[in-house]
Amino acid sequence: MREEEIETAIKVVVVGNGAVGKSSMIQRYCKGIFTRDYKKTIGVDFLERQIEVNDEDVRLMLWDTAGQEEFDAITKAYYRGAQACVLAFSTVDRDSFDAVESWKRKVEDEVGTIAMVIVQNKIDLIDDAVVQPNEAEALAKKLRLRFYRTSVKDNLNVDEVFRYLAEKYIDEM
Ligand code: GDP
Repeated sequence: MREEEIETAIKVVVVGNGAVGKSSMIQRYCKGIFTRDYKKTIGVDFLERQIEVNDEDVRLMLWDTAGQEEFDAITKAYYRGAQACVLAFSTVDRDSFDAVESWKRKVEDEVGTIAMVIVQNKIDLIDDAVVQPNEAEALAKKLRLRFYRTSVKDNLNVDEVFRYLAEKYIDEM
């Protein structure tokens, strides 16, 4: 009898204020595309991508809030069983940066301590930045989280974010 391969599947929730680029990030990572006017598909819970970590197949399931964050109405089903989390904010949206800590608390209230990372998206718009680099670094240090700067538009650092989460999850498994 052939031994069954044990596959690691990780549910990743991507949270943060509206319009910081969460859906775009998921689309970029799982489908390799970027569209400026991507319309949220209600009904699709998550997209997935498989990667290899330490010679092991890991399936990442990336959950999209599908706009629910706008109404502060993220359902319990969204968080249920989450094993990793992206806390996203935008370079050009001050409120989204100020909300990072409360997003962290929300996730932890629902699922406890899980692998997390802070992501500053839209760094292609750095000329219009409303968050200074040292502020973001200070927040990451305070919350003791790894911090990445991404541009989903230019496909900068997106793969690295999810690889880091997968590795962190596996390390702590
Ligand atoms: P969500 O509400 O957090 O899911 O945000 P969306 O993914 O819908 O993105 C909001 C807008 O920001 C869309 O028009 C995206 O095309 C745009 N966007 C996403 N990522 C980037 C980025 O890295 N750079 C720039 N310039 N625009 C981005």
